Amino acid sequence: MSFNTLFLDRDGVINRKIDDGYVLKTEDIQIMPGIKDFLAMANNMFLQIVVVTNQRCVGRKMLKEEELLSIHKDINDRTGNFINDFFFCPHLDEDQCDCRKPKDGLFLKAAENYAVDFSRSWMIGDSVSDLIPAKNLGIKTIYIGAGINSCADYTLASTNDICTVFLPG
Ligand SMILES: [Mg+2]
Ligand SMILES: [Zn+2]
Repeated sequence: MSFNTLFLDRDGVINRKIDDGYVLKTEDIQIMPGIKDFLAMANNMFLQIVVVTNQRCVGRKMLKEEELLSIHKDINDRTGNFINDFFFCPHLDEDQCDCRKPKDGLFLKAAENYAVDFSRSWMIGDSVSDLIPAKNLGIKTIYIGAGINSCADYTLASTNDICTVFLPG
């Protein structure tokens, strides 16, 4: 298999990002267009699919960790259960953790738990802080959004277009 691990940001890639807020309950989850079909396709191409997500709302005590886990279970259920794991950073800036993106701790934690080969892995994100750690680790990158992202190998306007990157020809 030429592809190894698919890393995905969560908010803005799998589910719609909430402006100036957080996904705090399952009713807040809106799956982005094309994501379920893309994950079904990726499931046949990648050894594992993992989410790496900053969730400062946990550190802010807006959401309990078990509530976050049930949100992740719901996201997985609604997208075909193709996601092998969710790695999240619950920390605040003052915690000075090693995992809040653009730091690379979540990616390294995934590599402790799975047979990860960064050179054959991909990261999809909607912000530069998603792509900085990926670039540092030698992971290929897809940026979802408008404008120029200097860390992006591919830039797409919509999650609907992700599959085109992986289609032959
Ligand atoms: Mg995001
Ligand atoms: Zn952290």
